[in-house]
Amino acid sequence: MMLRSLREQVAGQARRLAAAGMVVGTAGNLSARQGDLIAVTPTGARLGELRAEQVTVVDPAGAVVDGTLAPTSELDLHLGVYRRFRAGAVVHTHAPMATAMSLVLDELPCVHYQLVELGGTVPVAPYRTFGTPELAEAVLDALEGHTAALMANHGGITHGADLDTAVTRTLLLEWGCELYWRASSLGTPRTLDRAQRDEYERQVTATAYGTTRPV
Ligand SMILES: [Zn+2]
Repeated sequence: MMLRSLREQVAGQARRLAAAGMVVGTAGNLSARQGDLIAVTPTGARLGELRAEQVTVVDPAGAVVDGTLAPTSELDLHLGVYRRFRAGAVVHTHAPMATAMSLVLDELPCVHYQLVELGGTVPVAPYRTFGTPELAEAVLDALEGHTAALMANHGGITHGADLDTAVTRTLLLEWGCELYWRASSLGTPRTLDRAQRDEYERQVTATAYGTTRPV
Protein backbone atom coordinates (compact mmCIF):
# COMPACT_ATOMS: atom_id res chain seq x y z
CA MET A 1 0.00 0.00 0.00
CA MET A 2 1.44 3.38 -1.04
CA LEU A 3 1.91 6.07 1.62
CA ARG A 4 0.78 3.72 4.38
CA SER A 5 1.73 6.06 7.22
CA LEU A 6 0.02 9.09 5.63
CA ARG A 7 -3.13 7.05 4.96
CA GLU A 8 -3.15 5.84 8.55
CA GLN A 9 -2.93 9.49 9.67
CA VAL A 10 -5.88 10.44 7.45
CA ALA A 11 -7.98 7.52 8.75
CA GLY A 12 -7.01 8.20 12.38
CA GLN A 13 -7.79 11.92 12.15
CA ALA A 14 -11.10 11.15 10.42
CA ARG A 15 -12.04 8.97 13.40
CA ARG A 16 -10.85 11.75 15.76
CA LEU A 17 -13.13 14.28 14.03
CA ALA A 18 -16.08 11.89 14.19
CA ALA A 19 -15.46 11.12 17.87
CA ALA A 20 -15.35 14.87 18.59
CA GLY A 21 -18.76 15.33 16.96
CA MET A 22 -17.37 17.34 14.03
CA VAL A 23 -18.78 14.99 11.38
CA VAL A 24 -22.01 13.04 11.20
CA GLY A 25 -21.93 9.87 9.09
CA THR A 26 -20.33 10.60 5.73
CA ALA A 27 -20.48 14.43 5.89
CA GLY A 28 -16.92 15.79 5.83
CA ASN A 29 -13.63 15.06 4.15
CA LEU A 30 -9.93 15.48 4.81
CA SER A 31 -6.64 15.03 3.06
CA ALA A 32 -2.91 15.28 3.63
CA ARG A 33 -0.03 15.86 1.24
CA GLN A 34 3.37 14.21 1.06
CA GLY A 35 5.46 15.76 -1.69
CA ASP A 36 3.23 15.79 -4.74
CA LEU A 37 0.92 13.00 -3.61
CA ILE A 38 -2.27 13.52 -1.64
CA ALA A 39 -4.05 10.98 0.57
CA VAL A 40 -7.76 11.81 0.67
CA THR A 41 -10.90 10.35 2.21
CA PRO A 42 -13.19 8.49 -0.22
CA THR A 43 -16.67 9.72 -1.10
CA GLY A 44 -19.49 8.09 0.82
CA ALA A 45 -17.36 6.58 3.60
CA ARG A 46 -18.34 6.74 7.28
CA LEU A 47 -15.48 8.78 8.73
CA GLY A 48 -15.94 7.38 12.24
CA GLU A 49 -15.00 3.92 10.98
CA LEU A 50 -12.47 4.84 8.30
CA ARG A 51 -9.50 2.51 7.74
CA ALA A 52 -6.19 3.32 6.04
CA GLU A 53 -6.85 0.98 3.10
CA GLN A 54 -10.02 2.98 2.28
CA VAL A 55 -7.99 6.18 1.84
CA THR A 56 -7.30 7.07 -1.80
CA VAL A 57 -4.04 8.53 -3.15
CA VAL A 58 -4.24 11.10 -5.96
CA ASP A 59 -1.80 13.27 -7.89
CA PRO A 60 -2.07 17.10 -7.98
CA ALA A 61 -4.40 16.86 -11.01
CA GLY A 62 -6.75 14.53 -9.12
CA ALA A 63 -5.88 11.29 -10.95
CA VAL A 64 -6.08 8.26 -8.66
CA VAL A 65 -2.60 6.82 -8.11
CA ASP A 66 -3.52 4.17 -5.54
CA GLY A 67 -6.62 2.92 -3.76
CA THR A 68 -9.88 1.29 -4.76
CA LEU A 69 -12.45 3.95 -3.76
CA ALA A 70 -13.42 7.17 -5.59
CA PRO A 71 -12.11 10.27 -3.77
CA THR A 72 -14.33 12.83 -2.00
CA SER A 73 -16.70 14.93 -4.11
CA GLU A 74 -14.84 18.02 -2.79
CA LEU A 75 -11.52 16.88 -4.32
CA ASP A 76 -11.25 20.06 -6.45
CA LEU A 77 -11.51 22.15 -3.31
CA HIS A 78 -8.75 20.18 -1.58
CA LEU A 79 -6.46 20.29 -4.63
CA GLY A 80 -7.06 24.04 -4.95
CA VAL A 81 -5.94 24.64 -1.36
CA TYR A 82 -2.70 22.70 -2.02
CA ARG A 83 -2.10 24.63 -5.25
CA ARG A 84 -2.79 28.10 -3.92
CA PHE A 85 -1.51 27.90 -0.33
CA ARG A 86 1.02 25.04 -0.51
CA ALA A 87 -0.77 23.55 2.52
CA GLY A 88 0.14 20.17 4.00
CA ALA A 89 -3.41 19.14 4.96
CA VAL A 90 -7.04 20.19 4.45
CA VAL A 91 -10.12 19.46 6.58
CA HIS A 92 -13.73 20.18 5.61
CA THR A 93 -16.67 19.43 7.94
CA HIS A 94 -20.30 20.28 8.58
CA ALA A 95 -19.56 20.75 12.30
CA PRO A 96 -22.69 21.88 14.18
CA MET A 97 -21.75 25.38 15.42
CA ALA A 98 -19.61 26.30 12.39
CA THR A 99 -22.46 25.31 10.11
CA ALA A 100 -25.01 27.22 12.21
CA MET A 101 -22.82 30.35 12.01
CA SER A 102 -22.47 29.86 8.24
CA LEU A 103 -26.24 30.38 7.98
CA VAL A 104 -26.28 33.83 9.57
CA LEU A 105 -22.87 35.52 9.55
CA ASP A 106 -20.90 37.39 6.87
CA GLU A 107 -17.78 36.78 8.97
CA LEU A 108 -16.98 35.42 12.42
CA PRO A 109 -15.45 38.36 14.32
CA CYS A 110 -12.16 37.91 16.17
CA VAL A 111 -13.66 37.75 19.68
CA HIS A 112 -10.78 35.82 21.29
CA TYR A 113 -7.03 35.91 20.77
CA GLN A 114 -6.90 32.18 20.02
CA LEU A 115 -8.76 32.93 16.77
CA VAL A 116 -5.67 34.80 15.53
CA GLU A 117 -4.40 31.28 14.79
CA LEU A 118 -7.11 31.12 12.11
CA GLY A 119 -6.22 34.54 10.67
CA GLY A 120 -8.24 36.70 13.10
CA THR A 121 -11.70 37.14 11.67
CA VAL A 122 -13.02 34.09 9.83
CA PRO A 123 -14.58 34.92 6.44
CA VAL A 124 -17.75 33.27 5.12
CA ALA A 125 -17.47 32.15 1.49
CA PRO A 126 -20.68 32.67 -0.54
CA TYR A 127 -22.95 29.67 -1.05
CA ARG A 128 -22.27 27.49 -4.10
CA THR A 129 -23.38 23.93 -4.90
CA PHE A 130 -21.21 21.25 -3.27
CA GLY A 131 -18.55 19.57 -5.41
CA THR A 132 -18.45 22.33 -8.06
CA PRO A 133 -15.49 24.39 -9.33
CA GLU A 134 -17.57 27.47 -8.38
CA LEU A 135 -17.58 26.36 -4.74
CA ALA A 136 -13.84 25.69 -4.82
CA GLU A 137 -13.14 29.14 -6.30
CA ALA A 138 -15.34 30.98 -3.79
CA VAL A 139 -13.76 29.15 -0.83
CA LEU A 140 -10.18 29.62 -2.07
CA ASP A 141 -10.79 33.38 -2.42
CA ALA A 142 -12.21 33.51 1.13
CA LEU A 143 -9.15 31.65 2.48
CA GLU A 144 -6.68 34.33 1.29
CA GLY A 145 -4.80 35.38 4.44
CA HIS A 146 -6.69 32.86 6.61
CA THR A 147 -6.24 29.24 7.68
CA ALA A 148 -10.00 28.80 8.17
CA ALA A 149 -13.20 29.84 6.45
CA LEU A 150 -16.89 29.20 6.86
CA MET A 151 -18.85 28.16 3.78
CA ALA A 152 -22.31 29.76 3.65
CA ASN A 153 -25.14 27.30 4.38
CA HIS A 154 -22.65 24.43 4.20
CA GLY A 155 -19.88 24.14 6.83
CA GLY A 156 -16.27 25.03 7.45
CA ILE A 157 -12.77 24.40 6.14
CA THR A 158 -9.29 24.64 7.65
CA HIS A 159 -5.79 23.96 6.40
CA GLY A 160 -2.36 23.62 7.97
CA ALA A 161 1.21 22.46 7.50
CA ASP A 162 0.19 18.98 8.67
CA LEU A 163 -2.96 17.02 9.43
CA ASP A 164 -2.83 17.41 13.21
CA THR A 165 -2.64 21.21 12.80
CA ALA A 166 -5.51 21.32 10.30
CA VAL A 167 -7.73 19.11 12.50
CA THR A 168 -6.87 21.12 15.61
CA ARG A 169 -7.87 24.28 13.70
CA THR A 170 -11.24 22.69 12.84
CA LEU A 171 -11.77 22.06 16.57
CA LEU A 172 -10.67 25.64 17.31
CA LEU A 173 -13.05 27.03 14.67
CA GLU A 174 -15.91 25.06 16.23
CA TRP A 175 -14.94 26.34 19.69
CA GLY A 176 -14.83 29.93 18.38
CA CYS A 177 -18.26 29.59 16.77
CA GLU A 178 -19.74 28.18 19.96
CA LEU A 179 -18.09 30.90 22.02
CA TYR A 180 -19.51 33.60 19.75
CA TRP A 181 -22.97 32.01 19.94
CA ARG A 182 -22.93 31.89 23.75
CA ALA A 183 -21.63 35.45 24.06
CA SER A 184 -24.13 36.79 21.51
CA SER A 185 -26.99 35.39 23.57
CA LEU A 186 -25.76 37.50 26.52
CA GLY A 187 -24.99 40.76 24.71
CA THR A 188 -22.87 42.23 21.95
CA PRO A 189 -19.45 40.54 22.02
CA ARG A 190 -16.41 42.85 22.03
CA THR A 191 -13.96 42.11 19.24
CA LEU A 192 -10.17 42.41 19.16
CA ASP A 193 -8.89 45.09 16.81
CA ARG A 194 -5.87 44.85 14.53
CA ALA A 195 -3.49 46.44 17.09
CA GLN A 196 -4.56 43.97 19.81
CA ARG A 197 -4.10 41.05 17.42
CA ASP A 198 -0.64 42.28 16.38
CA GLU A 199 0.34 42.71 20.03
CA TYR A 200 -0.85 39.14 20.73
CA GLU A 201 1.34 37.80 17.93
CA ARG A 202 4.37 39.66 19.29
CA GLN A 203 3.70 38.16 22.73
CA VAL A 204 3.41 34.64 21.27
CA THR A 205 6.79 35.07 19.61
CA ALA A 206 8.37 36.50 22.75
CA THR A 207 7.09 33.80 25.12
CA ALA A 208 6.85 30.72 22.83
CA TYR A 209 3.21 30.52 24.02
CA GLY A 210 1.53 27.16 23.51
CA THR A 211 4.67 25.07 23.75
CA THR A 212 6.04 23.26 26.77
CA ARG A 213 9.53 24.17 27.98
CA PRO A 214 11.77 23.23 30.87
CA VAL A 215 11.65 25.48 33.99
ZN1 LIG B 1 -19.47 19.63 2.58
